[in-house]
Amino acid sequence: MFRAFLIKYGEIGIKGKNRYIFENALCDQIRFALKDVDGEFEVTKEQGRIYVEVEGDYDYEETIEALSRVFGITAICPVRLVDNSEWDNLTKEVADYVKNVHGTEEFTFKVEAKRANKSYPLNSPEICREMGAFLLDNFDNMKVDVHNPDVHINIEVRSRAYIYSTIIPGPGGMPVGSNGKAMLLLSGGIDSPVAGYMVAKRGVTIEATYFHAPPYTSERAKQKVIDLAKIVSRYTGPIKLNIINFTDIQLYIYEQCPHDELTIIMRRYMMKISETIAKESGCLGLITGESIGQVASQTMQSLNATNEVCTMPVYRPLIAFDKNDIIAISEKIDTYETSILPFEDCCTIFVAKHPVTKPNVNAIRRSEYKLEEKIQELVNTALETREVVICE
Ligand code: ATP
Ligand code: MG
Repeated sequence: MFRAFLIKYGEIGIKGKNRYIFENALCDQIRFALKDVDGEFEVTKEQGRIYVEVEGDYDYEETIEALSRVFGITAICPVRLVDNSEWDNLTKEVADYVKNVHGTEEFTFKVEAKRANKSYPLNSPEICREMGAFLLDNFDNMKVDVHNPDVHINIEVRSRAYIYSTIIPGPGGMPVGSNGKAMLLLSGGIDSPVAGYMVAKRGVTIEATYFHAPPYTSERAKQKVIDLAKIVSRYTGPIKLNIINFTDIQLYIYEQCPHDELTIIMRRYMMKISETIAKESGCLGLITGESIGQVASQTMQSLNATNEVCTMPVYRPLIAFDKNDIIAISEKIDTYETSILPFEDCCTIFVAKHPVTKPNVNAIRRSEYKLEEKIQELVNTALETREVVICE
């Protein structure tokens, strides 16, 4: 059983002061990912390395699964920890490790050694040489290949010694918390959870806003969005979800404006309200699941009309993705099954049979003048009565 894992991470762009922000965020995210895994884990940062150590019994598969969700990790290496690194003991441990992990099949190998503890009697090249010779003497199934070995046997001597040869790929990206915060417009559909996941993978903390329209949309539709936020939070850490009651605003637009413009006008108010909350929470951008041409409200003209009300950058990571590619990601991150549950979405209730596909921004603005009397008051009420749920 392994008592530790060495966590490898990409180092591009994390020089100087950014390095400790990146590393601290990574440690925090690892702790969050492991909080529900059985076992006593300790995450430590030591001389440019991050280790996860574990006391007593734990679930290996679950641990790997949890670590595989942490953005910023490029590789997870299960490590044999050796407290007594004296040469005779070290060779014994390496022999036992090799037998357990690589069995009796033939394979080629190379020893890579690092001596961080400079008082150790052998230096790095000597450890490589001596350990290589020791393994050749003791294992008939092992041959040296220094250029293209099947197995790299890594030995690091610090205050203790670390042995590892297995490298499990991580998700890559950057740790959430290393790159600011953005507001995700989260609906119950397939696209927006994927969009949030993708931006979070670049290190961005996610907050979310959902617009519902009771009684036109049900409690179950709202619960579905909370469930989606919880699934996404397994990758991103806790998500603060703002739930906005949009009913009165939608009804008012429905009363006052041409029905074929309803979706666009509604989407402009969603963006405006999301941006207000985003500014209040210190977010630096909005995120949507929009993709060019997917539906009437996502033609270039519609996106232009929706975008016009925003002053913050709007990140649309799916903009050039086909639906099938988005579905593939949603299956991978486990949101798909929840997303396809058949609960009504607040946009579908009031949609016109033939919505405009090429809205003219000036015409839309003219229609919005008809809302002048009451809209600000309705927006304020929606903001004041919002419900906040922490999803984790
Ligand atoms: P999704 O699958 O994400 O619901 P969609 O294909 O249904 O997207 P639209 O309904 O046009 O597309 O919505 C486009 C984007 O607007 C969504 O990806 C989401 O970011 C945002 N959005 C739509 N409806 C809501 C809502 N009720 N609450 C919050 N955001 C929403
Ligand atoms: Mg939708």
